[in-house]
Amino acid sequence: MHELGLCDAIVEAALGRAGGRRVNAVRVRVGGHPVDPRVIDTGFRLAAAGTVVQDATVELVTVPYVMRCAGCGAEQEARTATDLLACRSCGGMDVESSTDESVVVESITFEPVPGTA
Ligand SMILES: [Zn+2]
Repeated sequence: MHELGLCDAIVEAALGRAGGRRVNAVRVRVGGHPVDPRVIDTGFRLAAAGTVVQDATVELVTVPYVMRCAGCGAEQEARTATDLLACRSCGGMDVESSTDESVVVESITFEPVPGTA
């Protein structure tokens, strides 16, 4: 998984929503990627440098992979790398993710405009 690409996507999505206003916080839902919030935070700083979202706090909401087994029909949340490859119930290798792997900005908090707060 490419964290920097993910950070670019978060920054782009936030900028699109911000419309030039300064942003305090961004809440992002990330599907399927087991991400390290510290890595994301660092990547976000780099990707956001010089933009209106550069000082924003990133709140990550991660949606885990749900793996579906074609062998026994079990659907279970992937908790380890092994779960992505084999079914925990029957050990079968015919598993696939049923999770939407997308980056969605759920909400944005804008910085109050000075003088109006
Ligand atoms: Zn199975």
